[in-house]
Amino acid sequence: MKINSNYKNLEESYLFSTIAKKVSDYMSFNPDAKVIRMGIGDVTRPLCKSVVTAFENAVKEQGELETFHGYGPEQGYTFLRERIKSYYQSYGVDINLSEIFISDGAKSDIGNILDLFDNENNILIPNPVYPVYCDTNKMSGREICFMNANIKNNFLPLPDYDKKADIIYLCSPNNPTGACYNREQLKQWVDYANKNEAIILYDAAYEAFINDSDIPRSIFEIEDAKKCAIEFCSLSKTAGFTGVRCGYTIVPNDLIREGMSLRKMWLRRQTTKFNGVSYPVQKAAEAVFTEKGQQECKKNIDVYMKNAKLISDTLTRLEIWHTGGKNSPYIWLKCPFGMTSWDFFDFLLETVGVVGTPGSGFGSNGEGFFRLTSFGTEQSTREAMTRIEKAIKEKRG
Ligand code: PLP
Repeated sequence: MKINSNYKNLEESYLFSTIAKKVSDYMSFNPDAKVIRMGIGDVTRPLCKSVVTAFENAVKEQGELETFHGYGPEQGYTFLRERIKSYYQSYGVDINLSEIFISDGAKSDIGNILDLFDNENNILIPNPVYPVYCDTNKMSGREICFMNANIKNNFLPLPDYDKKADIIYLCSPNNPTGACYNREQLKQWVDYANKNEAIILYDAAYEAFINDSDIPRSIFEIEDAKKCAIEFCSLSKTAGFTGVRCGYTIVPNDLIREGMSLRKMWLRRQTTKFNGVSYPVQKAAEAVFTEKGQQECKKNIDVYMKNAKLISDTLTRLEIWHTGGKNSPYIWLKCPFGMTSWDFFDFLLETVGVVGTPGSGFGSNGEGFFRLTSFGTEQSTREAMTRIEKAIKEKRG
């Protein structure tokens, strides 16, 4: 018996456990301190009314002989896929129903999609990055090439034709940096991928936070993207589904490699290894895409985006370089006073009781940067910004 020894190559992620330890140490010395957490990547606002009603009704259906549902259709219920198709249509993208796969969230599909690809492919991943892309590749022993995201390119790396990539991970709006590719930049990636017969794995988990019309919500807004991209989407942040679990993945019919349809391969993979998302969850997800559901979800997103603006405006006043916060719930800032990510973490915790996430936890290029999120309440965000502004001004003297 041999284990998958690639697991030995996974680095232990100490990021969130170290943060928790530092906060609990601080609290034990400052029991009355009101710590404000701005590091969380989880939502705080509850499910909207339409979703709860649909969820409840579907659970009741499951308890009645006449309306009980067992295993559902393989790719997800048509009622939900029709809604997703219309959602894409609302911003001009035509997706075929057969291309939509309902999932229990983006993370599972982002990891599982690697089942379709040989281990010898060149994998290209931005640095800094959402750690799931790296770890899922390491688990199968794949080598990773990193592309540098930094201030020079506004944390939006573009293709380098001297490097041959087969599988490219893009995330826009980005976690952790909040940076977003515009149409012209995304077109560069699509052209590169089509020229090199590469595949783009496009993570659109935060598309619902996009406000600007020149930022695409889907990679399929770009011409020829259907020949080279798979898109992952999630209701986690869009509709507060982090604890409910539902997402969707689009694998276009035009995606053909070595004579094989990747859509058919994914269908085969899913029908073999996955038995779908529960009926009540899919009913709850359907409610997200109704007109009323959209309005209600938007109200929650507006709360987060107001917080994001508050954070961004404070940093602008302090003349601190940052990205994100305009079309994304994440704000990525350059640590002031030449501090490292952890120095700045300690400074904020110890002087003002505010907790964020050190950028170095997302890759070497994150050193010297810091992530704040807008998922808190308006009151706590306002309070945190007042405290941070005061502390930085005092330190500057
Ligand atoms: N992709 C990115 C970039 C994320 O930040 C997250 C969650 O934090 C996910 C995917 C996972 O989403 P889900 O909850 O749908 O699995």
